Amino acid sequence: MRDDARLEDLGAGIYAWIQPDGSWGLANAGLVSDGDASLLVDTLYDLPLTKRMLDAMADATPAARRIDTLVNTHANGDHCFGNQLVGDARIITSTATAAEWDEVPPAMMAQMVAASDQMGPIGDFVRKAFGAYRFEGLSPTPPTETFDGRLDLTVGDLAVELIEVGPAHTAGDVIIHVPSTRTIFTGDILFIEGTPIMWEGPVGNWIAACEKIAELDPEVIVPGHGPLTDTRGALAVRDYLVYVRDEARKRFDAGLSIRDAVHDIALGDYSAWLDSERIAVNVSTLYKEFGYAGPPPDTMEIFGLMAELAR
Ligand SMILES: [Zn+2]
Repeated sequence: MRDDARLEDLGAGIYAWIQPDGSWGLANAGLVSDGDASLLVDTLYDLPLTKRMLDAMADATPAARRIDTLVNTHANGDHCFGNQLVGDARIITSTATAAEWDEVPPAMMAQMVAASDQMGPIGDFVRKAFGAYRFEGLSPTPPTETFDGRLDLTVGDLAVELIEVGPAHTAGDVIIHVPSTRTIFTGDILFIEGTPIMWEGPVGNWIAACEKIAELDPEVIVPGHGPLTDTRGALAVRDYLVYVRDEARKRFDAGLSIRDAVHDIALGDYSAWLDSERIAVNVSTLYKEFGYAGPPPDTMEIFGLMAELAR
């Protein structure tokens, strides 16, 4: 287990759990508490990681010893596979996120990692990205309540707004805004110092989500992956998406294949962001949005392309 995760006290009962360096599966999470009321933002990729986080939160504030409410920002496993450890809580997410809950269950991840020895270079990539997590023995624990658009909650006396900004990274991305402290937990709408990965799109929704985050004028932003940030982080992700959209469009219009477009796009400064091979997923999703007539690449092809780029 990596030992550099840490709980950041953001003041006023708000905490961020940060897992450096934010690469594949190393997601952030958070806690909003007031008095003895608590709201957890996301769980982690496996039970040991989630337990360590919950223990650190319980040490920091008695409110976290019993989590009342869990909000899952989306259905990717690195944000929800640990849900069973707070199984007594109300578990809230958007209707669209709940609908894709079972798309990539823990057993599928366990199987993929177990099979990686026979998968050549793709297997090496899979093992490097996911081999450190424990996907066995997890019981998927789905949401108990869903909402569409927006849901206002209170945690003790703190007002908390759940705002659905998807489909973008996934089908039903949710951000959590605490207006009184000007804090936003963005889930995977923001990757900081790491490359965003667009499984769903449309890209315009994701760009709008970044701008919405900036308009809320937060003082602190807890991204889905990477270090704490502020409005500049939201605008940097927007700029990446605009750049990749425009570069992919030129190549789509020129008739390049997805593979050729992925290899042809110069990432410039963005190549310094972690996991830049995610350009393969982003171009593939953009091509679909542009109306690509060719057969859509399957998951193995996409992982193959990422493995190729990551080498
Ligand atoms: Zn994530």
